[in-house]
Amino acid sequence: MNAWIDFKVLRKKLDFEQVLRHYDVEVKRKGSQHQGFCPLPDHQGKKNSPSFSANLERGIFQCFGCGAKGNVLEFAAMMEKVDPKDGAALHKVAGELQKRFCPELGASQEAKPPATKPEKTEPKSDLPVVVNAPLDFELKGLDRKHPYLLNRGFSQETIDHFGLGFCSRGLLKDRVAIPLHDHEGRLVGYAGRVVDDATISENNPRYRFPGKRERDGKHFEFRKTLFLYNGFRIKAPVDDLIVVEGFASVWWLHQNGLPHAVGTMGSDCSERQAELIVSLVKPNGRVWIVPDGDKAGERYAQTLLSLISPHRFVRWVKLDEGEQPTDLLAEQLKTCFTT
Ligand SMILES: [Zn+2]
Repeated sequence: MNAWIDFKVLRKKLDFEQVLRHYDVEVKRKGSQHQGFCPLPDHQGKKNSPSFSANLERGIFQCFGCGAKGNVLEFAAMMEKVDPKDGAALHKVAGELQKRFCPELGASQEAKPPATKPEKTEPKSDLPVVVNAPLDFELKGLDRKHPYLLNRGFSQETIDHFGLGFCSRGLLKDRVAIPLHDHEGRLVGYAGRVVDDATISENNPRYRFPGKRERDGKHFEFRKTLFLYNGFRIKAPVDDLIVVEGFASVWWLHQNGLPHAVGTMGSDCSERQAELIVSLVKPNGRVWIVPDGDKAGERYAQTLLSLISPHRFVRWVKLDEGEQPTDLLAEQLKTCFTT
């Protein structure tokens, strides 16, 4: 039985920016506009020209490369590889969005059975899809003494612990390479962080994550939403776990004697990540969420609260406007997590 969804109300309520982030789309706002590479899986044509634009206020988008356009619901459908004209399929996608971002709209349908996870439909090509495959190589020759990290206050111990280093060639040229491990501790890719913020642009995002590639007759895909940064280092369920958005916050907490910290690698948390968070914390333990002090951080906290508080006790450490966990001094951190 399908629960009734008012598409019009949902479309109005949904925050397009949040939906974009949910699908790992790098969002850079220009007023009410977002412009960037087309993230649609069926996008044909040039991948490296910023052909995609979304009007975040009006909740509509258009790609000049592949000609796709529509509203935020249709966007989500296309990202899920679902035909937006297929009413039943669109309904399902809308239901997932409502549950995640506007649960209050579905409040009158509390009694319905828990929705199953969205089924990922196979892409149109026949190639098998492999997600987060372990890498068969490691980046060599990273500069572990690069001033970028040291100047930001990270100690050599911290840099070595997380395997960070400046990369001078390849895809991560001129970036700090950050090894990413899945829940089992397998190296599944590297993120690269720009060292010179002045060079950040549409074509040069602050963070670069592994892209899709085709090899040996398979589609390889990377999804950061399927694991937690630093999650594999936490072996047994702990009493207290700190959850932050970014990599640097995890490093900072570690350096200040708080090693039980994980990052969601962005200001959104997937259901899988929430599941992993819960699994890392004892049933009577606590999850401390420490979002950045901004609007996105506030929404992030709401998402985490709705996903985790049914299972674990959650504390929200609210930072001041504009503040990030890396701004907190050792003394402040101590008081944050002892009450
Ligand atoms: Zn496109």
